[in-house]
This record gives sequence, C-alpha cells and structure tokens, in this order.
Amino acid sequence: MQRDKPMCVLVVSPLNSLMIDQVMSLRKGGVKACYLNITGTHGITYEESIDDEEDIDFTSSECLESDVPFEQLANGEFILIYSHPEAFIKTKFSRLLRSKLYQDIVGAIVVDEVHMVSEWGDNFRPAFKNLGEVVCVFEDAMHLLLTATATVSATETLSKVMNLKAPVVVAENVDRPNIFLEIRNRLPNIKKFEKYDDLIHPIALELKEKMHAFPVTIMYIENLEAMGYFFQFLMYELQDNAYDGEQIPQNRIFGQFHKDYPESMKQIIIQELTKTNPKLRLILATVALGMGLNAPSVERIIHCRPPTNLEKYLQEIGRAGRNGQPSTAVMFFNKNDIAKNRKGMTEEIRMYCTEQKCLRLMLVNYFGFENFIFSGERENCCSNCKVYM
Ligand SMILES: [Zn+2]
Repeated sequence: MQRDKPMCVLVVSPLNSLMIDQVMSLRKGGVKACYLNITGTHGITYEESIDDEEDIDFTSSECLESDVPFEQLANGEFILIYSHPEAFIKTKFSRLLRSKLYQDIVGAIVVDEVHMVSEWGDNFRPAFKNLGEVVCVFEDAMHLLLTATATVSATETLSKVMNLKAPVVVAENVDRPNIFLEIRNRLPNIKKFEKYDDLIHPIALELKEKMHAFPVTIMYIENLEAMGYFFQFLMYELQDNAYDGEQIPQNRIFGQFHKDYPESMKQIIIQELTKTNPKLRLILATVALGMGLNAPSVERIIHCRPPTNLEKYLQEIGRAGRNGQPSTAVMFFNKNDIAKNRKGMTEEIRMYCTEQKCLRLMLVNYFGFENFIFSGERENCCSNCKVYM
C-alpha cells in the first residue's frame, strides 16, 4: 500500500506463541514490531541484532526480550503491533487507538485465526465476538481476516460479526496433497483396557523397532486417563530403549503434552518439535498441543477418537507434512465416538467416519471446494480410495 505518511498495522492474534514467533522474525528482518500483553498495558519486543553480533539467533530461546513502555506505544513508534483481542476492547490501549495519532497512522487491521470468533466467542473468550468494534474505530483502514479453516457459511457469519461491508473472499483449497487420509475402527467402549491396548500396542512395537527412524507422530488422545495408560504402556514396553542417550526426561523418545503438564516440560516438547530431526518421536497429546505449533518434522497424526467437527479435524491434521514430506493422518472411531448424543458432534464428521466415499473429496467439499489438489495414484489418496475404488 502506498502512503505518504508512516503507517501502523494492528494484528489481533489469539495466542502468545503465535505473536512471539512473528514478532521475533519481524525483528530479525529489522521491522519495528512488538506485541502487547492481554490487558493492553505494556508491550514486549526483542533486541535487534547489533553490528558485532550480526548472527544473533532470534530463534533460540535466549534471544533478548525487552519491555516496551506504554509511552513508546503512545508515540506511535511501532509499525506492527500484535495483541490479544481482549487488549483491543475497553483497555488503556483501546483508548489510545481512538487518539488522533492512531486514527491517522493505522492503515490496516489484521485478525489472525479469525475462526476463533465463532468457535470461542460465546463464553471462553467473549472479546472475539466484540472485535467488530475495532473495525468500526478504523472504518477507512484495510481489514484482513485470516484463517486456515472456514466454510462458506462461516465466512458469511464472520463478515457480519466483524461489520465488514462487501468483503473480498480469497480462499485457497484446503487440500493437503501430501497427507494420506485414513479411517479405522477401534474396539467398542465396553472393552475398557483392550480398547486402549489395541491402539497403543502396535505403536509401541513400531517405536521399539524403529527408534530414531520412527516417523515423528502426534497421537491425539481423548482424556488424561487414556494418556496416562498409554505413557505407562510405552515405558513398560520400551524400558531402556525409551531414551536417546543418557536416561533423563529430555532424552526420552516419547512424551506427553496436556494443559496441566508443567510449563517447563511443555516448552521442552515444543522446542524439540521445532527441530528438523528431533529426538522426540512420539507425542501423546490432548488438543492443548497444536495451534501455532511450528513442527516441520511431524509425519503422522493419529486421532484415537474423532474431534466433533471437520474444522477441528482439518486443523489438527494440518500439523503433519509441513515440510512437504509424505505424511499420514489416521483417525480411529467406534460407535460411541460418533453417537448423535455426543456433545457438539456434527453430521459431517459422522459421515466422514462411516461413508465409503473418498475422504479427501468429503473434506474439501465441506469447505466449499469442488475438487482436491492431490493428483497421485488413487490408492495413495485415502483409505477409502484404496479399499473401495
Ligand atoms: Zn480418496
């Protein structure tokens, strides 16, 4: 955009990890960017590289974080300001945005992961629903809403909630041609322990056999009880083979990740996963692991139970094959998993599990695309194409 005066772009983002990632890489490129705390009272940025330290590693956790006092924000010193939706609604910062300075310099507002507006708006983070206010404060600015997953009707709803007039919708096909899609049955719920063994046993054997060659896998597990069971199962099955090197937790080739897990252990897992060839090969996880995760080496996503809708499913499997390597997404289900009385369960994911049609086609159709991008052999498309076509 051509402008003859300085411009500022506001970016609304739901997660610290996403903001930290982006602010770091912008700072690396010399762009004045910062992110705000959730209450909108002060900002955080990272030190730019100084001449004799040109190779400063902004990706390492040691890169220097520095505080941005509110006065610097009030002076309009930053070109990109990231923050949580909450910081834009009824805070010191939101009042600053109404000042003459900001009315003059804000040229664009970006809302990242905008599907959160409909997914989380009602109770968990109501600020998402009120983001339309921010749009109204800067009526003449450009507005850009970004999401990886939105159906046609979701796009319409979002435009309304965000007060957009005649938006231009640019949608890229959601197909991920390098991910093989697979559906499998699992044992019924009455088989309390066999049901779990059936899922984890083949994985434990494969891990034991392949060790460091085991494809990096995220296994999404329905609850903490199952996760604990799987973890113990792996410990018992692998014994001394559970470690790559010295027998310390950091060297274990499998790990678990859930929201109550110690923050330091979560960080170890996330750091490990950002490597191109991690020691950590298998992560047992609840949905807490995911959004904003930059894990190029993940080759396989296993769902022990289907999520309740295809939006969630698409997002979760999208963590596989980020570096373009052939990957797999396997989803297990039994009758209880797709029962009509399961809270939030949609008809589309039930059909995805049970119909004998191409999984890839069902997925892209749901998001409003007539066809997929995949152009390989039919048997490499999905488990249904392999068996039925
Ligand atoms: Zn197919």
